[in-house]
Amino acid sequence: LASRTFQPMDTVIDIGGHKIGGDNLTIIGGPCSVESEEQIMHIAREVKAAGGHLLRGGAFKPRTSPYSFQGLGEEGLKFLKKAKAETGLPIITEAMSIEEFDLIEQYADIIQIGARNMQNFALLKHAGRSSKPICLKRGMSATIEEFLMSAEYIMASGNPNVILCERGIRTFESYTRNTLDLAVVSAIKELSHLPILIDPSHATGRWQLVEPVSRAAVAIGAHGLMIEVHNDPEHALSDGQQSLKPERFTKLVKIVEKIHQIV
Ligand code: PEP
Ligand code: MN
Repeated sequence: LASRTFQPMDTVIDIGGHKIGGDNLTIIGGPCSVESEEQIMHIAREVKAAGGHLLRGGAFKPRTSPYSFQGLGEEGLKFLKKAKAETGLPIITEAMSIEEFDLIEQYADIIQIGARNMQNFALLKHAGRSSKPICLKRGMSATIEEFLMSAEYIMASGNPNVILCERGIRTFESYTRNTLDLAVVSAIKELSHLPILIDPSHATGRWQLVEPVSRAAVAIGAHGLMIEVHNDPEHALSDGQQSLKPERFTKLVKIVEKIHQIV
């Protein structure tokens, strides 16, 4: 179902009037985690003003350490809903398990399945029964074939609206948080009709690298970018070191839109 031979035409997914896939460029911005009502409202206004199309923000966080901030849970979802009501930005947020999936589905416009759950087949099948689009992130040691097979799980369960997101894979390199596999964009476009986004924040782990990598991602043909934005990265409860301040995000959006026009 995910393959280009099965469906030659690009999948285009309409999210509240904004189209993801095909010739469109989608910019998703927002914090790693929703931290407070004030924080998400502030960042949502900045993302909107910069020209972003969707607001990201984790309420249920897949943290490496159980002692790290785990997210605000349903309270975070309520803050996201308020931010959407004020700015009009649709919401993308992660579901880590089947138990919380149905709750998240009530708030989110797109449900994210994170890298650590890319092969959680029970969760993929559950997402396949949802009426909401799913953004599936590539597992940190998944091959392209495994990535597409996970999309296939969602589609085979009845949900055709899958958006892929490359967020870097694990290699021997440790200067960057992950190693970004940019060729995946062209490979996926050859093999599949599904939209493919790049997440330069988790791919690099360093805010200084986010803008240059975003330029390259759009130049190679990515359908969009997912970027972590924080008003106070130094005090962020997660991923501050890879989060852009709103001014830098605004500049990035302008540059990538220019690149998108010429590619
Ligand atoms: C995220 O986008 O918040 C996230 C945790 O990303 P990943 O699953 O790619 O690590
Ligand atoms: Mn993050």
